[in-house]
Amino acid sequence: MQILIAEDTLRQRVAALPQEISSDHPNGVHLVCVLKGAFVFLADLIRTMTCEVTLDFMAVSSYGPSTRSSGQVRVLKDLDSGLEGRPVVIVEDIVDTGLTLAYLQEILRARGPRSLKTACLVSKPSRRQTNVAVDYVGFTIDDLFVVGYGLDSGERHRNLPHLAIVTDSSRAASPTP
Ligand code: 5GP
Repeated sequence: MQILIAEDTLRQRVAALPQEISSDHPNGVHLVCVLKGAFVFLADLIRTMTCEVTLDFMAVSSYGPSTRSSGQVRVLKDLDSGLEGRPVVIVEDIVDTGLTLAYLQEILRARGPRSLKTACLVSKPSRRQTNVAVDYVGFTIDDLFVVGYGLDSGERHRNLPHLAIVTDSSRAASPTP
């Protein structure tokens, strides 16, 4: 698979984002990590945050076995604690059509956070189907399907230290586990 964003480039950009988030939240922030794809991004982000950080995790499914968003989002694991009055930042892996994030923002906003922002590792603006706000963006890419750094294709490749492009031929060539 072709490398789209190398490990060093990822590290440098991900190290810069916490400064933006911390300076917008000097009194601390509650991060909501969207599993599974954002777990590596979250782990790197929090280690250079300078404000006080609390964490929670949510798991959603927007794809099923396919690599195209169905637009139907299922909550597989909900948060352990409430959001009322808290400054919250959603930590997402990728904003593609934006349908998943728009749904998440709607259900989390209904829980009464003091503020609600979103950080994503990768944004694909050319694919957007809804006008969703993303406050902190690691990288903007074209219409490509990427894996690595926590992102999967059929649960594989999450462990790659870089972001790689998956083509239809590389998917076909990969053995099914
Ligand atoms: P959306 O609802 O914005 O179309 O899709 C959001 C979700 O689809 C992301 O959180 C991510 O899990 C998945 N997704 C979208 N594009 C990609 C991609 O290029 N690679 C991988 N591995 N997942 C993607």
